[in-house]
Amino acid sequence: MKNVDLKFEQIPIKKISLKNVEKKMMSFIEQLKAAKDYKSGLKVINAFEKYSSKFQTNVTVISIRYSLNTTDKAIAKAQDEVDEMMPLISNYINMWNKVLVKVPYRAELEKKFSPYYFKMIENSLKSFDEKIIPELIEINKLSSQYDRIMGSAQIEYKGQIYNIPQMGKFSKSKLREERREASIKIDEFFQEHEAEIGDIYSKLVLLRDKAAKKLGYKDFTELGYLSLGRVDYDAKMVEKYRKQIAETVVPVAQKLYKSQAKRIGIPFKKMYSYDYNLMYLSGNPEPTGDPEYLVESATKMYHEMSKESGEFFDFMKEHHLLDLVARPGKQPGGYMTFLDEYKMPFIFSNFNGTEHDVNVLTHEVGHAFQGYLSRNIKPSDFRSPTLEACEIHSMSMEFFAWPWVQLFFGKDADKYRYGHLCDSIEFLPYGITIDEFQHWVYAHPTATHEERCKAYQEIERRYTPHKVYPEEMKVANHGGWWLRQSHVFGSPFYYIDYTLAQVCAFQFLVEMTKNREKAWRKYVKLCKCGGKYPFVELLKKNHLRNPFEDGNVAKVIKPLKKILNSFDETKF
Ligand SMILES: [Zn+2]
Repeated sequence: MKNVDLKFEQIPIKKISLKNVEKKMMSFIEQLKAAKDYKSGLKVINAFEKYSSKFQTNVTVISIRYSLNTTDKAIAKAQDEVDEMMPLISNYINMWNKVLVKVPYRAELEKKFSPYYFKMIENSLKSFDEKIIPELIEINKLSSQYDRIMGSAQIEYKGQIYNIPQMGKFSKSKLREERREASIKIDEFFQEHEAEIGDIYSKLVLLRDKAAKKLGYKDFTELGYLSLGRVDYDAKMVEKYRKQIAETVVPVAQKLYKSQAKRIGIPFKKMYSYDYNLMYLSGNPEPTGDPEYLVESATKMYHEMSKESGEFFDFMKEHHLLDLVARPGKQPGGYMTFLDEYKMPFIFSNFNGTEHDVNVLTHEVGHAFQGYLSRNIKPSDFRSPTLEACEIHSMSMEFFAWPWVQLFFGKDADKYRYGHLCDSIEFLPYGITIDEFQHWVYAHPTATHEERCKAYQEIERRYTPHKVYPEEMKVANHGGWWLRQSHVFGSPFYYIDYTLAQVCAFQFLVEMTKNREKAWRKYVKLCKCGGKYPFVELLKKNHLRNPFEDGNVAKVIKPLKKILNSFDETKF
C-alpha cells in the first residue's frame, strides 16, 4: 500500500480522457488475445486489474467529492463526464470479458482464482450487451428523473417548507394530530405527482422488458437477477422464502403491533398507519450528544469491541474517511464506498440529531469494517460480495453495538434495543411486499398504473393487514405506497436483499447473547471472506442458516421471542 499517511482531501483527482481510456482498454484486450499461455496471460490480467483499480478509484473519488459539495462547478462537470462515459466503458469491459472466458489456459486460472471467478464474469456477460446500451442510458435518465422529483419535494407545514425526510420527524411526533397531518401532507405530494411518477415507472418497466427480450430472456426477472450477480438462487427460491416469512414472521409482527397499540394507548382496531411510527408514549429514543460526542463514543465502543475494530476506526479517523455532518451543498442520504487503490473505505452521511446518526456509526461502519478487513484479497473483484451478503456485515454490526448503546442513548438504551429488534422483525413483511410486487410488475410489463396499484394493495393487505390509512391519504389508500420506495425505480429486485441479510444478522444477535466472543470471531471470519463466494455458499462456509431452506426462517425467529420477552415493555 502506498501513501500510508494520505488523508482523503489530499487524494488527487486525475482528469479522465475517454480517448485515452479507450486506447488503453483496446491495448489490454489485444495483449490478452496475444497471450498464448497461462504465465503471460496472468501478467496481462494483473496489469489490467491494476489499471482498473486506479481508474475505478479515480471515478469514486470524483463521485465522493461531488456528493460532498454539489455546488462546486468543476467537480460537477467531472461527474457529468463520468456519467456519460460509464456505459461506453462497460462495453470495453464486456469485450475484455468475452476474450477472458475463452482463453486456452482457463482451467489453470480457475485453479488460481476459483471457478466462481469465471462464473461471475459469465454472469456479467449474460446480463450486458452493446445492443442494450440505448435502453440502459434511457433507464439511467428516468431513474434520475424520479430522484429529482423526490428531491424537489417542498412540503409546507406549519408555515415552514420541508423536504420528505425532514417531514419524518413530524410523522413520528408524540402528538397524534401532528403525525396524522404530516402523513397526509406527504401523501398529498404523491397525489400531485402520481401521474408523473406512475408514467416514469411505466417507461422504466417497458425499457427493462425490452432490454431483457433483446438479450433473449422471457421477461426482465431473470435478467434482473443476473444483473445483481445472483448465481446460486433464483426467483422460485425467493418465492418459497417469501412464503416462509409470510407464515412465520407476519403473525409475530402482528403481535408486536398489537402490543405497540397497547403501549401507546390506542385500541388496535383504531390504529392508523401513522400511529405505528410512534414506538413509545414517552417518545422515540434520541442520541444524548452532538456529532463530536457520538464519534468519541463510537471510538470508545470500537476499541472495547475488539482489537481489529479499534485499529480500523482509528484508521478511518486518521485518514479523514468519515464525513458525517450535514452541510449546505452536500447531497442528501448516506453511503459507504471503497477506494481500491488506497485500500480505504469512505463513509458519507448527513447527521440530523436523531437515532439515524447512531445507525450510521453502526450500520455504515459495519460495511466499512468489512471493506477494511478484505482490503488485501486478490483478485480485487473478490473484495466485496454481492449486495445481500454486504448487508449482513452492516446489519450484524448494528447488533454487535448493543452492549455499548448506552453511550449513545443514556437511559433510553433499552428503548433503543427493543425498538431496533421490533423494527427489524416488522421490516420483513414490508420487504417481501415490495419484492412480490416487483415480480408481479415484470411478469405483467404492459399493465396500467391502476392495475399495478391494485396488485400492490392485494399483496400489502396479505402481509401487513394492520395497515389502515386515513381517508385523506388517497395514494396510499388505492395501493400507491410503493411510489415512495426508491429501490422499485432505481434498483429492481434489490429490496429482498435487506430481508435476507436481516435473517442472517438475527443469527448473530442470538449467538451474541450466548457467547459474544465466539459470535464476534465468526463475524470477523465472515467479513474476511469478502466476495470470494456467492451468497448461499458464503452462508454455508460460515455456518449460517440458509434462509431459502424450508423451516430455517422459523428456526431463526423462534429464539428472538425470548430476547423480546427479556425487555420490560411496561417501563418504556
Ligand atoms: Zn447497508
